[in-house]
Amino acid sequence: MSDSAAALEQARLDELDRYDVLDTPTEEPFDRVTRLVCRILKVQMSTVTFLDGHRQWFKSRQGLVECETDRSVAFCDYTIRQNEPLIVPDTHTDSRFIDNPLVTGPPHLRFYAGIPLRSSRGQNIGTLCALDAQPRVIGADQIAILSDLAGVVTDALALRVLATTDGLTGALSRRAFREEGSRLLALTQRHGHKVSCIALDLDHFKRINDCHGHAAGDAVLAGSVATCQSLLRKTDLFGRLGGEEFAVLLPHTNQQEAIKVAEKLRSGIASQVVGADDGPLTVTASIGVATSGSAAADLDTLLGMADAALYRAKAEGRNRCIAAPAPAGSSHGLGRRVLKAGQIIFNGGRSAIHCTVKRLSEQGANLAVISTEDVPQRFKLAIQADNFSTMCEVARKASGEIDVRFA
Ligand code: GH3
Ligand code: MG
Ligand code: MG
Repeated sequence: MSDSAAALEQARLDELDRYDVLDTPTEEPFDRVTRLVCRILKVQMSTVTFLDGHRQWFKSRQGLVECETDRSVAFCDYTIRQNEPLIVPDTHTDSRFIDNPLVTGPPHLRFYAGIPLRSSRGQNIGTLCALDAQPRVIGADQIAILSDLAGVVTDALALRVLATTDGLTGALSRRAFREEGSRLLALTQRHGHKVSCIALDLDHFKRINDCHGHAAGDAVLAGSVATCQSLLRKTDLFGRLGGEEFAVLLPHTNQQEAIKVAEKLRSGIASQVVGADDGPLTVTASIGVATSGSAAADLDTLLGMADAALYRAKAEGRNRCIAAPAPAGSSHGLGRRVLKAGQIIFNGGRSAIHCTVKRLSEQGANLAVISTEDVPQRFKLAIQADNFSTMCEVARKASGEIDVRFA
C-alpha cells in the first residue's frame, strides 16, 4: 500500500471509530435488513459488514456461522474501494475470487452482491451483502432494492450514534458509557476523589444460548442488568460494552468499597433465577475491579485494568471478583484508544500478519488479530499510516489480542 493509500485508509478507520460499532451486540434494526435481503432476493446469506484494520466483522449475519474473517479474503474489501455495487454473478468465473478460501471452502460462495455503506462524511465504512452458494443473475431492480436497504442501514447507524441506551437491557450503550464515563471520571478526579471501575462478564453464557435458546439468553441478559441496577447507586454508570460484557463506573469509591460493590453484584447475579420456557435458569459472573490512583487515569486505562483483573477471575475459576493490583497512574496502562491498521512482521521480513492497533502508548500497544497462534514472541510492528515501525516483545496473549512492549 502506498503512503497516500494508507492515509486514506486511516481516514476511513477514523470514521469507523466514530461510529464505535465493532464488536457490539446484534441489534434488531440491522437483523431486520439482512432478513429482508434474504427474503426479497431469495438468497441464502446476507450480512452487514464492517472492515476493521485486519478483518471483516459482521454486525448482522444470516446463514453464516463465523462472525468475522481475515480481511485478506473479504470480497467486501473490493466493494469499499468503489462507490458502486460490486456484483459477482459466479465466483468460479471471476479470477479475483476463484481461489478465495470462502469460495473453495465453507460457505462456498458462488454469488456475491455488495453495496458500500457510505457514512455521512463520505467514507465507505462497510457493506450490505447478499450471498449465495449458487451462481445468480441479478437485475437492476434487485440492485436498486439492495441499495435502498443499504440506505436503511446507514440511517440506522446514524440513529445509533444518537441513542444512549441498549435496546435489550436498558444499560448505557458502549459509546454513551465511554462518553459519560470520561466526563464523570475527569470531574471526580479534578475534585481529588477516587473512582473505581468494574468489568463484568457472564460465565459460560454461550452454553445458555446453546442449551436453552437465544430468547432465554436475552432474558438472562435483561435480568442480570436489572439485578445489577437494583444494587447500584443512581450516580453509578452502568454500560453494556459487548454481548455479555458490562462495565460500571463508581465515582467517589475507593478500592475497598468497590470490591464490596463487586461482591454484591456477583452474589446478586448468582442468586437470581430467570424464568425460561424450559424452566428456571441461573448464571454466574466474573468481575474485575480497578481504582484510579494518585495520578489521574483515563477511562480506557481504568477499563483496561479492570478487564485484566476480570481475565484473571475467569482463569481462576469464574464466579469471583478480583481487584487489579496496582492503582492506575497516567504512565501505566496500555495507552490511548486508537483504531489503526498494522502489520506484525517477522521471519526476517518474509512473514507478515495483519492486525488492528487498538491502544497505543510510548511503551507499548494492544493489537487485535484473528489468531494469536502464529505470532512470535518478538516481531516488528509497522503502522504505515503513521510511518511508524518498531521491535516488540509480547507481554500477554489472550484470545484474539496481544499486548506488546516496545523493545
Ligand atoms: P466465558 O465464561 O469465558 O465468558 O464464556 P462465554 O460463553 O460467556 O463467552 P463467549 O465469549 O464464548 O460467548 C459469549 C456468547 O454471548 C456468544 C454470543 O452468541 C452470546 N451473545 C452475545 N450477545 C448476545 C445477545 O444479545 N443475546 C444473546 N442471547 N446472546 C448473546
Ligand atoms: Mg462470558
Ligand atoms: Mg465475553
